[in-house]
Amino acid sequence: MSSSNNFRPLITDLSRDELKEWCVPRGGGYRADQIRRWIFGKRVHDFESMHDVPAALRTALTSEFDFFATRISRHLVSTDGTEKLLLELRDGETLECVLMREEDRRTVCISTQVGCAMGCVFCASGLLGVKRNLSTGEILDQILRLDRLLPPTERITNVVVMGMGEPLANLKALLPALHTLNAPGGMGLGARRITVSTVGLPEKMRELAATDIPFHLAVSLHAPNDLLRNEIVPVNKNIGIAEILAAADDYFDRTGRRITYEYVLLAGVNDQDAHADELGRLLRRRNAHVNLIPMNSVSTIALEAPGSPRTQHFVEVLKNAGVNATVRKRKGADIDAACGQLRLSALQTPDVVLES
Ligand code: SF4
Repeated sequence: MSSSNNFRPLITDLSRDELKEWCVPRGGGYRADQIRRWIFGKRVHDFESMHDVPAALRTALTSEFDFFATRISRHLVSTDGTEKLLLELRDGETLECVLMREEDRRTVCISTQVGCAMGCVFCASGLLGVKRNLSTGEILDQILRLDRLLPPTERITNVVVMGMGEPLANLKALLPALHTLNAPGGMGLGARRITVSTVGLPEKMRELAATDIPFHLAVSLHAPNDLLRNEIVPVNKNIGIAEILAAADDYFDRTGRRITYEYVLLAGVNDQDAHADELGRLLRRRNAHVNLIPMNSVSTIALEAPGSPRTQHFVEVLKNAGVNATVRKRKGADIDAACGQLRLSALQTPDVVLES
């Protein structure tokens, strides 16, 4: 798998050092930071709008690089203020990203792959398998697109890498994107405001820890034992919960960052008291937080969320076991909120008229 490469280079695929190197013979390396400020801080849509960059340099940038990696194919706005974009990449593939509003938080959820290979049974993103990895610039492009939906007085406050794809399966492209999000000359977001989600790829979790930047890590567990997890998250058959928890413990030891365990509640599958008891036993001696997610329904998947009383009871059992647990609020329920569902419906109805 590789990103599309029959196009002009994407400016956001260049690291700060690579852009500096390109700028050196064209007026000085210091121009790189100036250009990056326009891209990540000032919300321009093209190189020509970078007013304090010399005209010749703007012309060179325009002729050598693409500014955006995508065009907006669909833009949905929920009654609760959540906005979802279906973006079309330069090779025609599509991906989803979301902007969520909550009090003074502006959280964006971004994708790392076109589709997903993990095959979680409740997820629309994995239904068609994985098409390819996104490049660093294609990952960052979602941030640029969503940031430009905000009014001038607002900024993105949090990033969750939790959209389509398994982020750690594309760590090579993700890491430079995380650095740009975190760096003062990029988006300047503190590491505690950036969450990376994973189904649990131990080797890659350790690689992320080795950056020594304490990003939040969210491990999608969804089951308290291997027998059940093998059914819900098929990739578990090759890994196993014990290995994942050991890597998560190592992540905590190295970064000091408490691990969040994501648990999608599926009625009649993993939502019983016995499951909560077992989960409690797994996590009670760990520095862990459990984020319970009532499943977002997907039209083609015959699974559903339990009712609110069962969900609350699950929380109580965990709390009684000494495990911190909360239920994630539903956002954008009226705009195909389930990850991958918008892309899936666009693929299934290709004759639909897309916004330009
Ligand atoms: S839940 Fe995440 S890891 Fe699982 S199939 Fe969907 S996108 Fe992939």
